[in-house]
Order: sequence, then structure tokens, then C-alpha cells
Amino acid sequence: MPRKIAPGEKLVLASHNPGKLREIEALLRPHGVDVVSAGALGLPEPEENAPDFAGNARIKALAAATAGGLPALSDDSGFCVAALGGEPGVLSARWAGPAKDFKAAMEAVNEKLGTTDDRRAWFVAALCVAWPDGHTETFLGRIDGAVVWPPRGAKGFGYDPIFLPAEGQRTFGEMDPDEKHAISHRARAFAQVLASCFGRVPSSFQSGAV
Ligand code: IMP
Repeated sequence: MPRKIAPGEKLVLASHNPGKLREIEALLRPHGVDVVSAGALGLPEPEENAPDFAGNARIKALAAATAGGLPALSDDSGFCVAALGGEPGVLSARWAGPAKDFKAAMEAVNEKLGTTDDRRAWFVAALCVAWPDGHTETFLGRIDGAVVWPPRGAKGFGYDPIFLPAEGQRTFGEMDPDEKHAISHRARAFAQVLASCFGRVPSSFQSGAV
């Protein structure tokens, strides 16, 4: 039986990534959920050493829920390129190095792709809700598209400027937040969190096969 977050219960956002926090807060805002970030509570960032998105999401949500004594929501996500065997994948943040230089990470993707015709790429998000007693529930979302070069737009974060969704003409970097939230991997996973943990009417999003 899926567990619910009680009305009025505070939720810890177990992320220290400003881009993700901004998007998750925007997704939660219409639902009146009381949130606090792991950073605001002074919670440390755990080491993400799982081999997949779901495993890393679980590590982050459990660490925040047990340290904060409140239910916690984490996001582990990444950019996957078919011709690179799914890389950068779970290493998406690490490709940007300690300086979090995503311009360099995007250049690395483009260089490794070279002249290959196969530009297929996708984003994956694993959202995990954990409770202080160790119970966890994980939800996956995916969006498919293609790598474009040069980067286009400065509205998003991370790899957004080089991702063109299959169903659009503009990169994630060129989209306003509402437009990205209507189709993104994160929003697709989030729709399942809402339905399962908050009992909200499921939206039209479908869980992408990941
Ligand atoms: P992690 O989940 O903290 O390991 O970091 C995932 C990394 O994937 C982020 O730092 C971004 O570079 C990238 N990423 C995840 N979601 C998105 C997105 O919606 N747009 C652009 N980049 C993303």
C-alpha cells in the first residue's frame, strides 16, 4: 500500500542543486506543500555511489529523512546520449567537474559525438520519497529527444541548451519554466509522486520507460 504524506506535513527537499530546487519548488507550489531544503536545515550531501538513478535518489532521500526527522523528496537525474552508451548518465554532474562547468560538459558531449549521425538523447529523473523510519518509494520519468550543437538558450540549467525534445522545436534552454514543466522527465516523475504520495488526481503524464 503506497504511503501518503499527511496534509500539513513538512517535506524536506533533499537536493543542493539550485536548478533542481527551483524546478521542484515550482512543481510543488500549486499543491500547497510546506517545504524546506536540505541546505536550509544544514544537512550534508551524502556520497552518491549507486550505479543507477533510482539508487542514488534513494541514498539522498533516506539521508535527509533520517537526519531531518521528516519525509524527504530527492531527485537524481541525468542526461543520456545513445551514441555514448548512455553517458554521461549517472555521471552527468561529475562531467562538469568541481567547478560545475556545464559549458565544458556540453563541449565534452559534442566532442565525443564527433560527426556521428545518431544524435538521440534523453533525460531521466528518479524522484524518491523517504520517511524517517526508512520506508522509500521511487518514481521514474523520462523524455526523449536529440543533442543539438551549438547550445541554444540560457533559461534552464545543466545540459538544457543542447537538448531538443522530440516533440518540440526549441531546446530546454530556450523554454520558459512552464513549458519545460509540461513535458520534462522531472515533471513526469513528479506527477507520479503527486498521485501516489499526495493522492492528487494523476495528470496526463505517463511514466516513461527508463
Ligand atoms: P545529480 O542528480 O545531482 O547527480 O545531478 C544530475 C545532473 O544532471 C545535473 O547536475 C544536471 O547537470 C543534469 N540534469 C538533470 N536534470 C536536468 C535538467 O532538467 N536539465 C539539464 N540538466 C539536467
